[in-house]
Amino acid sequence: MGNRIASALNSLSMPPSASPSPWIVLKFGGTSVSQRHRWDTIGTLMRARAADEGGKVLVVVSALSGVTNLLQSGIDRADSPPYLAELLAQLRARHLDFAAELGLDGETVLAGRLAELQHLLHDPRRDTRVFHWQAELLAQGELLSSTLGVAYLASQGLPVAWLDARDWLTAVPLPNQSAWAARLSVSCDYAGDAAWRARFESNPPLLITQGFIARAADGGTAILGRGGSDTSAAYFGALLRARRVEIWTDVPGMFSANPRAVPDARLLSRLEYQEAQEIATTGAKVLHPRCIHPCRDMNVPLWIRDTGRPDMPGTCISRSAEPQTGVKAISTRSGIVLVSMESIGMWQQVGFLADLFACFKDHGLSVDMISTSETNVTVSLDPSDNLMNSNVLDALCADLAKVCRVKVITPCSAVTLVGRGMRSMLDRLTEIWAEFGRERVHMVSQSSNDLNLTFVVDEGVAHDLLPTLHALLIECGAMPVEQSAVFGPSWRAIAEPAVAEPVSWWQAAREALLQEAAAGTPAYVYHLPTLRRQARAFAGIDALERRFYAVKANAHPAVLTALAEEGFGFECVSLPELQHVRRTLSDLPAGRLLFTPSFASRAEYAGACDSADWLTLDSLYPLRHWPELFAGRRLVLRIDPGYGLGHHAHVKTGGPEAKFGLALDDVSAFVEAARVIGAEIAVLHAHVGSGVQDAGHWAQLFAQLAHVADGIGTVAAINVGGGLAVPYRDGEAEFDIAALAAALAEARRQWPQYALWMEPGRYLTAQAGVLLARVSQVVDKLGVRRIGLDAGMNALMRPALYQAKHRIVNLSRIGDADGPRVDVVGPICESTDVLARQVTLPADTAEGDVLLIDTAGAYGFVMANHYNLRDLPREVIFDV
Ligand SMILES: *Cc1c(COP(=O)(O)O)cnc(C)c1O
Repeated sequence: MGNRIASALNSLSMPPSASPSPWIVLKFGGTSVSQRHRWDTIGTLMRARAADEGGKVLVVVSALSGVTNLLQSGIDRADSPPYLAELLAQLRARHLDFAAELGLDGETVLAGRLAELQHLLHDPRRDTRVFHWQAELLAQGELLSSTLGVAYLASQGLPVAWLDARDWLTAVPLPNQSAWAARLSVSCDYAGDAAWRARFESNPPLLITQGFIARAADGGTAILGRGGSDTSAAYFGALLRARRVEIWTDVPGMFSANPRAVPDARLLSRLEYQEAQEIATTGAKVLHPRCIHPCRDMNVPLWIRDTGRPDMPGTCISRSAEPQTGVKAISTRSGIVLVSMESIGMWQQVGFLADLFACFKDHGLSVDMISTSETNVTVSLDPSDNLMNSNVLDALCADLAKVCRVKVITPCSAVTLVGRGMRSMLDRLTEIWAEFGRERVHMVSQSSNDLNLTFVVDEGVAHDLLPTLHALLIECGAMPVEQSAVFGPSWRAIAEPAVAEPVSWWQAAREALLQEAAAGTPAYVYHLPTLRRQARAFAGIDALERRFYAVKANAHPAVLTALAEEGFGFECVSLPELQHVRRTLSDLPAGRLLFTPSFASRAEYAGACDSADWLTLDSLYPLRHWPELFAGRRLVLRIDPGYGLGHHAHVKTGGPEAKFGLALDDVSAFVEAARVIGAEIAVLHAHVGSGVQDAGHWAQLFAQLAHVADGIGTVAAINVGGGLAVPYRDGEAEFDIAALAAALAEARRQWPQYALWMEPGRYLTAQAGVLLARVSQVVDKLGVRRIGLDAGMNALMRPALYQAKHRIVNLSRIGDADGPRVDVVGPICESTDVLARQVTLPADTAEGDVLLIDTAGAYGFVMANHYNLRDLPREVIFDV
C-alpha cells in the first residue's frame, strides 16, 4: 500500500499552484477514519506531503462511520433516559473498541472526551433540546475521532498536533436565518485576514482537526449542516489560501455519468469549478455543491481522491486558463415536479407572470427551470422538504387556478448535459434529440451560463436512457473522451480490470491477410473454421428439429457447402437464391429448402413451387389471387406477432410499420381460404427482427405461435426465425446460446406436439468474415481527421443503412499508439459514405496501410454494389 501511495504521489497530476502558502488540506470521511489501515494511509500521505513537497498539512476528519446518526438519535429520543444510557454505552464501546484496534489505551486517550459525552447526555438542556445543546452533542463524533487519530499517529512516530476547529472557523449570521439554521446549518467566513493567518502559522506543521463544526457567534458550538466535513476542508483551504484541498473519499472521483447506471462512464480527471458545481448540483453525490464556492473564490484547487485506490488520479477541480468546450457529464435528478400554466386571460396580459410567481412565493416553493410560450408557462420545482407534503401542491394549484389553467406533471426526472459551450454543440446533438424524441419530453431548458442543457422526461425512463445517451454523446463527438487530460478510465475498467480479449481468427492470420490484401483490395475474407465453430454451437441446441441458414446473409458457395455439411437447410428469400443453392449444392437432401419471400410475384412463386420444399406465405393475397399455385400443398404461414425487435429500426420486421407477416387478426380468414383450396397450414413462422440479444425471445415467440397453432389444428412445426445478435463492438458480450437452448427446451416441454425450427443468418457467418481495405488518403479538415479507404458504402452498406458499428483496426500497424479520433470514409460520392465515426486508429496511420473491418461476414458482400461504377470487392476463403 505504502509503495502504491508513494508512486501515486510521484505522478501528481495537479496543475502547479500559484499559492505561496505551504498548506495542503486533506479531508477524510467516515469510512476513511474507521479502520486502522486507513489511518496508516493518512499517516503515509501526511508524511509524503511534508517530505516531498515541503508542505504543512492540515487533516480534517469526520466522525467514525455511523456515529453522527447515533448522536442524532440521542437528540430525537432525548425524552428517554434508558435510551440515552444505552446510547452512551454503545458510543463508548464503539470508540474503545476502535482504540483497541489501533493499539491504544482508549480509557486514557479518550477519558476527557467520554466524560464530556456522558455529561452532555445528562445535561438538563436535553429536556428542551435547545439548539446549542444539540450542536454540542453532534460535535462529539468528530472530537472523538480526531483525538483517536492524533494519538494513533503519534504512537506511530508522526508528531501531529490536535486542533480545535472551533478556534478557527467562525459562523457568519445570514439575513432571515432561522434560529435552527444559525446553530445547526451555519456558513462560515472563509476570507480571513492577515491576523488570522499569522495566528494560524504559529501552529505546528502537521495538524488534525474536525470537520462539520465551527464557532457560533455567541462563542458556543455550531454545526455546518449539509456537506459538513467537505465544506470544513474547503473553508480551511480558502482561509489558508492553501496549495490545494484533497477530499479523500471512497469513490475514484466524479464521473461523466452515474457509474451505477452507466458502467462505461468515464472518470473526469480535470474540471473547472463551474462545471464541477453544475455536476454536483444536478445529481452527482460525490461532492456537496456547497464546498466548491470557497475554493473557487480563493482559487484553491480541489482534488477528489479515493482512499481505497490511492493510485487512481482522482478528479482535480481548478481554474483553467483555456476552458475546453464539450459535454463533460450527463446527470439525472428524480422527484421533479412540473407545473404547467395556461393563460386564460388575454394575450400579452400585463402582470400575468408576476401573479403566477407570487403564488409560488406565497407557498414557499422555489422554482428551478422555466419555459414560456405565448400562452403557456411551465416551471419545474426543486425537490424540497416543502414539496414532500403534497398539500402544498394542492394549495398552490388552488391559488393558481384563479389566474390560469394549471396542470401538475409528476413524477419527472431532469436529465442534464453539463459542459462548456453547449450552444455551439447543438448541431452535433441530433442523435440525442432523436433519442429523447422517442420519449415524452415535458420541457427543455438551456442555462444562460451556457453550461447546461436539461430535458425533463417521465421519471423511470431517465435511468434506462442514460447508457444510450452517454454512448451517443461520445459517438457524435460532443463528449470529447479522447482528451485524456480530462477523461480518465471508465468505471468498468476501474472496477473490473481488463480481462484478456479472446483472440480473433484474424489476429492469428495477420500475415496471410496482409498478403491477400497485396493481391487486391477491397477484399472479403471468410474463415471457414470460425463458420463451423458457430454452426456447431448452434447445432448443439437439442430442442431444434430443423435448422436452416438464412442465405441472404452470405451466399458464397464455400459457405453454403460448409453449412450443408453441418446439417443445415437453406432459407431463401428469392427465386434466384433458391436457384443458386440448387446449383451450388446439387445433392441437397429433400426437405432442406425453404422459401420465405416478401411481396414475391406470381411468377416467382410459380418458379419456387418447382424448386423449394417449403413455401411461406405471409398475406392473403397469393391464396386469393393465385389459388392454383397452392392448392393441395402443405404451406408455411408467416405471422406478424404484433411487435418488432432488433438493433435498428430498419431491421424490425414485425408490428404495424413492418411489411412482413400476416396480422393475427387475419389468421382465421387465411385458415378458411386455405381450407377452401385444400391447402394445409403445416408450419407457423415468425421472424421479428435482427440483432436480438434477449435469449428468452425465441421461446416466448414459440409459446405465442403455439397458441395460434392450437387454434388451427393442422400445424406440425413452428419456425421462430433468426436474428441472434453478434458482438460487433469491443466489450459487447457473445450471444448466450446456452440460455437460448435452455429456454427453448423448456418451451418444447410445454408443447411437445410442435417441432421447432430456426433460421439464423448472421450468427453463423458474421464473425467468420472481415473486409480488407487500403488507405487512400489522410485528410484533416476543420478539426476532423478523415482516413480514406478504397472501400466504402459500395463494399459494406451496413454503416450507411443501419448506422451499424464495425470495429476497424489497422492491420499494418497493430499495437501502435492510438492517435486522436478519426472518421473512416469511403470513395463514394454520398455524404453517408462513412464506415465509422470518431474511432481511434494508430496515430501514424498512413496511405497504403491495410485496414481490417471486423465482423463483416454477414450482410457484407451480398449488399455490395457497383454504385459509381466501382468494382465489387473480391471474396477469398481461408480454410486453415
Ligand atoms: C434475414 C432473415 C433471417 C436471418 O436474420 P439474421 O439476423 O441474419 O439471423 C431469418 N429469417 C428471415 C425470414 C429473414 O428475413
